[in-house]
Amino acid sequence: MLDSLSGGVRALRCLDTLRRESVLDADSLKRLQDALLARLAKSAAKTGFYRHLSPPSGGSNSNQPPTSGGMPVDLESFPITEREDVRLGPDGFFACDETRHHLTSMTSGSSGTPVEVRSDREATAWRNALSIASLLDAGVKPMSLCARIHRKESAPGRIRMHYFFRMLGLSLFDDERANLTAIRKFGPQSLICCSSYAQFMAKENDYAEKPVKFKQVICGSEVTGENARREISRSFSCPVFDVYGCHEFGHMAWECPEEHSMHVSSRFIIEIVDGRGRPARNGPGEVLVTALHNHAMPLIRYRIGDRASWGKECPCGRGLPVIASIEGRTNEVFALPGGGIRPAACFSNIESLNGRVKSFQLIQEREDLFVLRFVPCGKGLDDSVRGDVESIVRKACGGARILVEFEEAQRIPREENGKFRKFYSKVGKG
Ligand SMILES: [Zn+2]
Repeated sequence: MLDSLSGGVRALRCLDTLRRESVLDADSLKRLQDALLARLAKSAAKTGFYRHLSPPSGGSNSNQPPTSGGMPVDLESFPITEREDVRLGPDGFFACDETRHHLTSMTSGSSGTPVEVRSDREATAWRNALSIASLLDAGVKPMSLCARIHRKESAPGRIRMHYFFRMLGLSLFDDERANLTAIRKFGPQSLICCSSYAQFMAKENDYAEKPVKFKQVICGSEVTGENARREISRSFSCPVFDVYGCHEFGHMAWECPEEHSMHVSSRFIIEIVDGRGRPARNGPGEVLVTALHNHAMPLIRYRIGDRASWGKECPCGRGLPVIASIEGRTNEVFALPGGGIRPAACFSNIESLNGRVKSFQLIQEREDLFVLRFVPCGKGLDDSVRGDVESIVRKACGGARILVEFEEAQRIPREENGKFRKFYSKVGKG
């Protein structure tokens, strides 16, 4: 009880800081982030992975970057941290006594490679504050009721408090009609879910005698295409807000309260780089993330597996950088035998393969045939794991009669455009 109270106070303090930092101009933001990076570098110096970094070359009185406890604070002096580095040696990233941490997530993100990220209390408070700030900026009013449709919802139909918001938990595995019925019963003002599912709901809502209306729909975990945005917005008579986040770091960027620009939060430094790791100023490149707030497990220049490009300065005057487009987030949909359609997010529980495979890809070859292609960690997948995967895929398909086959691979190639598709359906694509 006391723990959750102090956690709440901590998160609200972070929220207050975030609010102040969100309106900084570009120069003040740069100064703030330089100072935060210097502090993070001190924590990084305690880790096995970053400790052995050699100082940048150059004479002692030359243009050598400033150091912090022997560590460079010039971001580009740090190597790019690959997800594989974290997956293979998570202990090398922990900066303090493990008993003071608690595990926040077992994850895989968009590359299909599971990694473990740990946070201490402070980092957890920041993560919560980032999620609250994104909802407030989307216009969600304190104490209002939000319907949150999620694949990990364990008690659909229950309302719980999440700081100032009341959250009606609904399951992504329930069909859109059932969830619309629940929404009519409870009357939430906002909807939070992935855009492909929101789009299915919008189509269903269009046929309703009394269509559901929201104050706002908040979409995360996928890219919301212009079409989807229009359909969702029209059907529910409200604006759509995009949030860009990931399992490792939570919400990193979200839409400006005044414009449609997607601002990166002050607590993240995002770089967009080309194939050689140089800044890609025009056109898309790979996203590297430095989370300035997690001192328990510093991750610096972490290649997250998404591709994005920079947007124009936002007319609102905030100095926070603007991301124009994000690629690499799947909004693949799966057509089922019998006519149903499921979003890729329904299949995400396969991420429980964590630690058993290096990477994987789920391909729908025919309506009734799914193939799990995987790169094994060691001796392959035993029968019980295969059984688990089969039941996850069947559940995601709403119990439809489907076959699941397994295919071991040396590596899972990226597509020509560099995108990695963890979930892919060949049905209806010729
Ligand atoms: Zn703005």
